[in-house]
Amino acid sequence: MKITDVQACVIGRPEPHSGGSVWTFVRIYTDEGVVGTGECSSAGHMAGPMTVKSMVLHNRDMLIGQDPMNVAPLYEQLRRRGRYSGGSSAPWTFALTGIENALYDIVGKALSVPVYQLLGGRYRDRIRLYADCAAGETHTGPAYAEKAQAVLEEGYSAVKFDVDHKSGDSKLDPVNYTVGAREMTHVIDLITATREAIGWDIDLAIDCHGQFDLPSAITLAKAVEPLRLMWLEEPLPAENLEALAQVRASTSTVICTGENHYTRFHFMEMLERKAVDVIMPDLAKAGGIAEGKRIAEIAEASYIPVAPHNVSSPLGMMAACHVLAAIPNFLVLEFHGRDVSWWEEMCTGDAPFIRDGWMHVSDRPGIGVELNDEVARGLLWEGDVYFD
Ligand code: MG
Repeated sequence: MKITDVQACVIGRPEPHSGGSVWTFVRIYTDEGVVGTGECSSAGHMAGPMTVKSMVLHNRDMLIGQDPMNVAPLYEQLRRRGRYSGGSSAPWTFALTGIENALYDIVGKALSVPVYQLLGGRYRDRIRLYADCAAGETHTGPAYAEKAQAVLEEGYSAVKFDVDHKSGDSKLDPVNYTVGAREMTHVIDLITATREAIGWDIDLAIDCHGQFDLPSAITLAKAVEPLRLMWLEEPLPAENLEALAQVRASTSTVICTGENHYTRFHFMEMLERKAVDVIMPDLAKAGGIAEGKRIAEIAEASYIPVAPHNVSSPLGMMAACHVLAAIPNFLVLEFHGRDVSWWEEMCTGDAPFIRDGWMHVSDRPGIGVELNDEVARGLLWEGDVYFD
């Protein structure tokens, strides 16, 4: 089998409370009629989603004529090719992720097996989700509590809320990352009200989006120790793992990061520095299906669980589910599409994809989810052209 063409499209709309909902899709065509579709992050609509698409197409000439079954050697060739143009960083790694996912889709279809089978089989046939709730209607404890209770009625066993920039006029300086006394009280009130509303049998994660400085992060992490968080996410910006390791060493609160880290190399360093208790790679960004498994295996060797960040479409989310089915140390997967009315409709497969807080791993060949061309065409990014 030979690759005959590589195309890419940017599809989606930047809906509120969705974490983005604009994605780059890659389609790889073959001379045997097998077509694979992969998804990757478009680096956020603000960064210009066409950037990732152009990087995908930059590799088109190299891929045409190659055997798509040869996924790992092709991937390594592309990875090394990018060493002097971003290498293991975004958005080059995003583009490789979309290409590699499309190749795995082809291999699965050609062999008539689901992708998890190519990864060594599955430990589980359904993937536990947590609902990203963002915030309450207002940034108050009662509003957070109300939102949490409403979401739990949908069947989730875990929820996540944001607490950065949710303090209104209690934040005294708009620029610095210091959490003053009034803001700290407000943030702790939000988390406490949420915990009291959901009880102690539901897992609660709190996201700081890297918006706090070191002393503020340590104070917050220690203050919420009695609230038994599933994790405190990105209490510091992503760049300095040594500083994050100081937060982790200071507290019994579980510390998590990783949605802005990519490839096994970044996660190896994160673990070597003992910076986290839980890792959260975004599998639409981190380097692909096999790279996701490599990252999870490195974490497993340190007894660290994997709880991926996820703002993907059903297709990218199912690709992640194949990886998560195939690793022992999976904890929980994010779902951020509750507020996106067209999320389920943009793809076809074993819909509905989300049922009672779980995603069932597809047994169809390949990734097992296809774009609904009619719906996806209507969501095409302005100025882009849909697949042939
Ligand atoms: Mg986050």
